[in-house]
Amino acid sequence: MSHEAESVSQSNQQASGKTQPQVCTIWQLTQHTSQPEQLAEAGAVLAQGGIVAFPTETVYGLGADAGNTSAVEAVFAAKGRPADNPLIVHISQNHQLDELVQRVLPLERQLMDAFWPGPLTLVMPVMEDVLSPRVTAGLRTVGVRMPDHPVALALITASGKPLAAPSANRSGRPSPTTAAHVADDLADRIDGIVDGGDAGVGVESTVIQVKENGTVFILRPGGITREQLLTIATDVKLDPGLAGVSAEIAPLAPGMKYTHYAPRGNMSIVIGHSPAHVGAWMQQQLLAAQQRGEQVGVLTFDEDTTDYGSALRLSLGSAEQTEQAASRLYGSLRTFDDHNITYILAQGCSESGVGLAVMNRLSKAAGGQIITVD
Ligand code: AMP
Ligand code: MG
Repeated sequence: MSHEAESVSQSNQQASGKTQPQVCTIWQLTQHTSQPEQLAEAGAVLAQGGIVAFPTETVYGLGADAGNTSAVEAVFAAKGRPADNPLIVHISQNHQLDELVQRVLPLERQLMDAFWPGPLTLVMPVMEDVLSPRVTAGLRTVGVRMPDHPVALALITASGKPLAAPSANRSGRPSPTTAAHVADDLADRIDGIVDGGDAGVGVESTVIQVKENGTVFILRPGGITREQLLTIATDVKLDPGLAGVSAEIAPLAPGMKYTHYAPRGNMSIVIGHSPAHVGAWMQQQLLAAQQRGEQVGVLTFDEDTTDYGSALRLSLGSAEQTEQAASRLYGSLRTFDDHNITYILAQGCSESGVGLAVMNRLSKAAGGQIITVD
């Protein structure tokens, strides 16, 4: 644990509820209890240009008033995020959308009715002079979503602003699914953290763009699956840059070109038709790596019975349950870092349902290194 995170947890022990930590304020929310004073305080910090991390149903976000350029710049600085990677704007009420975008297509409205609040971001033509130009990274579009988390919704409402909020991690690191992950990365760089327990889905929102002709392009797979989108839209396509797990660039979603979500160790994904062959191959490679002096780890599924010896073995749960894999993914990548693992092999999973997002993030974390064993 970093020095910064330690001082947060020390000061956090002083009293229940809001404390005065040395590093950044933590508003500790007890689950199932609404704490309007805490949220009003955090909302006021945001309204005054501060930057505050908060839970959503996907991962923790780092919020700033989307109309305040210096607040938005503070988000980019805290994360070390490249300036050409735009931020998603989070709203809590439908009417806020009309102030942000030039028009809403009927199909976009249907998708929002079906999946908002929820992990679906729609990229739409931005209204001029409402948002800080830093939010859209100079694009003529803005990505908007309404998160399905009571704390996120209450905080947005308390701030009275649409909140620009990327994931609350240092750029390049796995996204945070707990307040402790946020503190590890950012405690000395932001104004506060609203701690509302674990985030739910575990991978980020699905980013889509709807064309005038009714085609829906998935720019980034996420918590709303392609199968779910097909219940509302008849034509749903993966952005060409996303075809297959080895995709490198999704030009329409600038963020996808960066190495993302990565643990510090060198990671490769291993796929193949026979789980037994894949396991045997991984066992051999891990042993060889260990003999070279690497600290080795393996990311696998419960069904895998291979003996990986002293490698740090983490399971994403059953290979049949990709929702569970999504919720465990980033925490597992951070656990490898906590154990100073330098060499990681990860088993691939099915790309159906949220498995598409899991494989997309694994592939990004592995810098596109995918090995097929037959
Ligand atoms: P993050 O904030 O880390 O969850 O990343 C946001 C993702 O949404 C990145 O992949 C961005 O490139 C994408 N995104 C945000 N706004 C837009 C936009 N206006 N057009 C296309 N992609 C966007
Ligand atoms: Mg992110």
